[in-house]
Amino acid sequence: MTKALIVGGGISGLATALVLSRRGIEIDLVERAPRIEALGSGITLIGPALRALDGLGIYEECVAEGFGVTDFEIYTPDGVLADKFPLPSPVGTGQPGLLGMMRPTLHRILLDRAEAEGAVLRTGVSPVHIGPAGAEVEVAFDTGETGHYDLVIGSDGLRSTVRDLVFGPAAPEFQGQCVLRVVLPRPAEVTAEVQFRPAGDVTVGFTPTSADSMYMYCMFPVEAGYRPREEDLVDLVRTRIEPFGGVVARIRDEVREPGQINYAAFETTLAPGPWYRGRVLILGDAAHCTTPHLAAGAAMCLEDALALGEEIAAAPDLDDALRAFSSRRYDRCKYVVETSVQLSYWQTHPGTPGADHQRVMAEAFGRLAEPF
Ligand SMILES: Cc1cc2nc3c(=O)[nH]c(=O)nc-3n(C[C@H](O)[C@H](O)[C@H](O)COP(=O)(O)OP(=O)(O)OC[C@H]3O[C@@H](n4cnc5c(N)ncnc54)[C@H](O)[C@@H]3O)c2cc1C
Repeated sequence: MTKALIVGGGISGLATALVLSRRGIEIDLVERAPRIEALGSGITLIGPALRALDGLGIYEECVAEGFGVTDFEIYTPDGVLADKFPLPSPVGTGQPGLLGMMRPTLHRILLDRAEAEGAVLRTGVSPVHIGPAGAEVEVAFDTGETGHYDLVIGSDGLRSTVRDLVFGPAAPEFQGQCVLRVVLPRPAEVTAEVQFRPAGDVTVGFTPTSADSMYMYCMFPVEAGYRPREEDLVDLVRTRIEPFGGVVARIRDEVREPGQINYAAFETTLAPGPWYRGRVLILGDAAHCTTPHLAAGAAMCLEDALALGEEIAAAPDLDDALRAFSSRRYDRCKYVVETSVQLSYWQTHPGTPGADHQRVMAEAFGRLAEPF
């Protein structure tokens, strides 16, 4: 294989561009948005994501720009430490088990490295037709141009155009829960990944993102189609976190401006396998979009990129590589989506018999730390 098209400049597309360019494959990456960038909120990267960043050769840079932690702390709603467990690092002894960083920083690092490896990135471009042309794939773009590629990779997220064009449309599943993520100054006492036990159907937690900053997430049930007005965001956050004590109560007055706050409702998808049709592959959120309850979405995207590079290097034939990639990734990503959806359900339905959020989460962290 000599030339591939990657559609989408998110975490998956940039990581895949980096990996495949490094393996000597000519990469065109097209991004529909006018700029390749991420929203200004934080991201929580669990152990497998750190291992993948290491595999991509950007671990040290990310750790230097973020805030690494070694423990997960659980508090009662009124702010008393109830439990604490270590987050072992799959990267190695003495390394953080979890890293918080700002999304734009992670994006910039991935973008810089993909370009440095030779990937050609274009913005304001989307495919409108994808079809076989002999052994190649022909792609028509909304700019009026066409291109021919050995492989086309759809890393264009939950509402993937590549998936719709080649695999058929798939509606995302709304999960009835949302998150408000708030960028805040980091109090000195927040040095771990922190989660408060729910107060009713509201869950709150913190991820430190630098020496000076952290982000708070506040999750609660919502109806389909709900979207808060920007001018209501500050009051909404303050009202939702009001039942909580401890550090949540102490930072409440720091929630001051809508610009600190990002709203998202949870939608998921799990495309049926295999994740390729001929020489067109989907990966990342286009194939498996999860809720953030295990903070494993980015980990799965980064692993996809590495796994694809390994399978292409190992198989003499591209079709075999795509088959191997799809079967290697499906069960693991399905586990992440289904477990995250389960955790979301328990939070939005307090009192569900048998619900054991903490045990399921700890088990998942252990399972995902195993080799993939
Ligand atoms: C609220 C929320 C919080 C989260 N928090 C975490 C967390 O803390 N930790 C974690 O690990 N994961 C988290 N995740 C999940 C993680 O953010 C995603 O799994 C990951 O960002 C998906 O990356 P992606 O590149 O596959 O898709 P996307 O980020 O959706 O990127 C797709 C890209 O493709 C572009 N695109 C779309 N259509 C086209 C087209 N037709 N042509 C060209 N380009 C196109 C888009 O503009 C976009 O740039 C969270 C998700 C949500 C919703």
